Amino acid sequence: MPYIDPHIHMVSRTTDDYQRMAQAGCVAITEPAFWAGFDRSSAAGFADYFRQLTDTEPARAAQFGIKHFTWLCINPKEAEEVSLAREVLALIPSFLDKPNVLGIGEIGLNKNSRNEITVLEEHIALAAKFNKLILVHTPHLEDKLKGTRLIMDAIARNGAIDPGRVLIDHVEEHTVKAVLDRGYWAGMTLYPDSKMTPQRAADVIEVYGNERIWINSAGDWGNSDPLAVPKCRLEMRRRGHKDETVQKISFGNPVTFLSQSGKFHV
Ligand SMILES: [Zn+2]
Repeated sequence: MPYIDPHIHMVSRTTDDYQRMAQAGCVAITEPAFWAGFDRSSAAGFADYFRQLTDTEPARAAQFGIKHFTWLCINPKEAEEVSLAREVLALIPSFLDKPNVLGIGEIGLNKNSRNEITVLEEHIALAAKFNKLILVHTPHLEDKLKGTRLIMDAIARNGAIDPGRVLIDHVEEHTVKAVLDRGYWAGMTLYPDSKMTPQRAADVIEVYGNERIWINSAGDWGNSDPLAVPKCRLEMRRRGHKDETVQKISFGNPVTFLSQSGKFHV
């Protein structure tokens, strides 16, 4: 059965990962712009990164029969410097018409600071102006619930964004209900030692259902697993979930959400 990994940073992964993902049934991925593991020194660094995400990486993925889509932004970790963030925001419109760009992401908060909120609001305004989907990163650990609420409030303040066109990622047991209750989509990130494990994600689906929710690996340059999605599918099957449910979480729901972009096809 085919699957989609809707959040993975392939610029940090090897061709062997593409090979193994294709063998496991991956047919499409979406790659949000993120922190590269170091702070970039200028907006030009982001312009090059956006070219990599819109030209180089789709061609690399295509070699393995995997469709590559992307989201653009300056991530919250580098958004503390508002003047740099504004230079990067000004670059984004010229990339929005590229065939693999689905929207704005992964935007959000890291330390929940005032400057991060300012840059978040400007990204939301950009998405509203160009009628783009949004993919949201939520902060880690103890700041997660507070940060998730601050982000949902910022989106609501904009007034022009339909929550059904926003996916809030890295939800955990204590944030998933608040996200779904407000009409947003929720993403569960399957990490080997933080965020969600495949077992915890299966628990959440059993408690909160399978509407407006998906799973992803968020594989990057750190400790992460590009095969986390197929591993979660195995865990759900082991528990006796129907093929229909497994497929909905790992294929059907991503297709439904992402197709709102008008560009996503598998
Ligand atoms: Zn990410």
